[in-house]
Formats: sequence, structure tokens, C-alpha cells
Amino acid sequence: MNLFEKLKNIRRILHKNPELSNKEFKTADFVEKNLKDLGIKTYRLCKTGVIGILEGTKKTSDKKRTIALRADLDALPIQEKNNHSYKSQNNGIMHACGHDGNTTILLGTAMILDEQKKEFSGKVQFTFQLDEETAGGSKYMIEEGVLSKNKVDCIIGVHVSPWHKTGKIALKYGAMMAGVDKFVIEIKGLLGHGACPHLSKDSIVASSEFIMSLQTIVSRIINPVEPAVVTVGKIEGGHQYNIIADKVTIVGTVRTFSLKTRELIKKEMIKRLQGICKNYSMTYTFDYQILNSPLINDDCIVNLCLESAKQCYGNKNIELLQNPSMAGEDFAEYLKEIKGAFVYIGTSSNKATSYPWHHEKFDLDEKALVGGAEFLANTAKLFLNK
Ligand code: MN
Repeated sequence: MNLFEKLKNIRRILHKNPELSNKEFKTADFVEKNLKDLGIKTYRLCKTGVIGILEGTKKTSDKKRTIALRADLDALPIQEKNNHSYKSQNNGIMHACGHDGNTTILLGTAMILDEQKKEFSGKVQFTFQLDEETAGGSKYMIEEGVLSKNKVDCIIGVHVSPWHKTGKIALKYGAMMAGVDKFVIEIKGLLGHGACPHLSKDSIVASSEFIMSLQTIVSRIINPVEPAVVTVGKIEGGHQYNIIADKVTIVGTVRTFSLKTRELIKKEMIKRLQGICKNYSMTYTFDYQILNSPLINDDCIVNLCLESAKQCYGNKNIELLQNPSMAGEDFAEYLKEIKGAFVYIGTSSNKATSYPWHHEKFDLDEKALVGGAEFLANTAKLFLNK
């Protein structure tokens, strides 16, 4: 069987059997078995994270280094609407972000490098991460030594991309994806009869004012050339038409690229909340969680990826992204610890493979998988032999 057929089979098995974040048990077993079949040493991190270590046999007098290559294993709570033969067999769960593709590319990389051991010295750490989607996996794996145990010098992450055609690769210098925060706010008033607003404290009116006031943080406080988003995604409160609501819950997200902007937005949110609640004699609770750091690529590693991409994809098939995305990716946490880069492998070739991430009809062009694996293998060798 050639590499394309092997990877297509692997990808379809993964796609048929998706598992949710932190529950990637069968996926992890499958990945580990594939690595072991190649003779690659493996171990687990955080139960469902899988690490494979491959050591090159090329002689060198230089200090040996380690490069980590990372894919993610988890799927999403989405009911697949595709009807192809490899559609999800697990009701309500789907690989709608293409992590089946990322995992397959990394297994393909292991197959290629296993045959090229003589061509490099140092180690390649195949890093199959659990729980990317709920934004915890990379942190847990770092805590359990994913970067320290094998003294990883550099890390490269790959993600299949429906925004780029098969045969293309997209790279970006510097900030690539936003830091992701989540807030949960409760505004507490006083329950009352809908006909007697003067005897109650209407938390819906105060919440409305607060939500409108949030709109001026990005537009009037943040420097216009600094990307930032404040979104309220959910509001909940009230009882029925003739009762004044005693409590409203407001849930949303903040996206930024710098600590300074994040702190400024948080401060402005609290200021507005305090002011409005004071005006209406109400109280509030404010819960603010940092989910992901901004993903900032290292320029030297992007240069290395660029050199590798020129060799594997050719100059005209490389897209250097100009603008960052306001979406998040927990690969960012690794880049806070060591240098590295995140890379998009184009997997779109027709309508069926052009649906966005997290779409119920998401699919990818399997022809792109071998190219992704060859690129990662080549990049690892370039790094280790430099
Ligand atoms: Mn993803």
C-alpha cells in the first residue's frame, strides 16, 4: 500500500470514530498502536495524550536537538450531516475541525521519518494532544512535562485548512491567532411586579445599558490599529411578561493579542459594570477566565518552515498570511514556553471540502495529507541538521 492509501485509511478510521475532548481513549489507542507498529517508542501523557519518540541515527559532533511535532486528537459535539461512507458512527460527535486530518498527517510524518532515520541526528517527538477544543489539553500536557521531559527545543503544529487549496500551505510571521478569554457576569436587581417598576430593581434595563456600553470599549478606548473583540454571546434572565427580573446573566468572550489590551478591556468592563450597577443600586458578580494565550509564531522557525515549504510545495504555493485571526488555538501555550510555529495545510479542492471549521458538513481533501506529512518530515530534518 502506498502512503496515500495508508493515510486515507487511517483518516477514515479516525473520522468514523470521533471522540470528545478528554475522552479520546480509542483514538489514543489507535494512534499509539500505529506508532508502535513502526517500532517507535511511545508513552502517554494526561491519559489520552500520546507521545512517540524517534531518534535519528546520523552521526554528528554537534549537540543533538529535539523537535516536537504536534497534532490534536479530539472531535466536537456536532451531528455530522455528510453521507459519505466514512461518516461519523458516534451519534452527535464529529471531527468537524479536521483533527482527524491533523492526526493522520502526523502519523504519516512518523512513517516517513522512520524510514529516514539515517538522514538526521537528534530526536523527533510526535506529540498527539488531547483536548484542544475546550482549550485545556496543551496546558495539562505542559504540566506533565511534554516539553521538559525530552528537552524539546522547538515545536511545530499543523492544522488542515478549508481556506486554502490542496497543494498550498499558509504561514504567518508573528501573531497568528488571538488570546481567548471568557466572561460570566451576573447583574442582580430586585424582583417585582411588572406594573410597579418603582418598587423593584430591573436587572434587564441595567444589563441592556451595560451590554450597549461594552460596544464603546473597542471603538473608543482601544487603539484602532490594535485588533480586539468584545462579544456577548448569551444573555439569560427574567421570568415572564409581568415580572421584573431580579437577575440577568451575561456570557461572552474577549479576543486580544497583548496582555496590555486584555488588561485594559477587563478594567473597562469592570468600570462600566460598577458605574451602571451603582446608578441603579444593584450588585454584580464578575468572573473572567483566560482560556488561551495569543498564538505568536517565532520568526526564525517561520523562516525554517518557509525554507521547507519552498522545497516541498514550491514558491508559488506558499501563502504568507498578512492578518491574524481572532479565533484561538491552544497551541499558543507551547509557544509561550519554547519557540515554534503553527502552519496551515490547504485541504480544499471543491465545495464539499470548503466548509468552514466546526461546520456539520466539514470535510477535507485526503490528497493533501501526504503533502502535509512530507512537509513536516522535511521541516524536522532541516531543524535537526542545522
Ligand atoms: Mn482545530
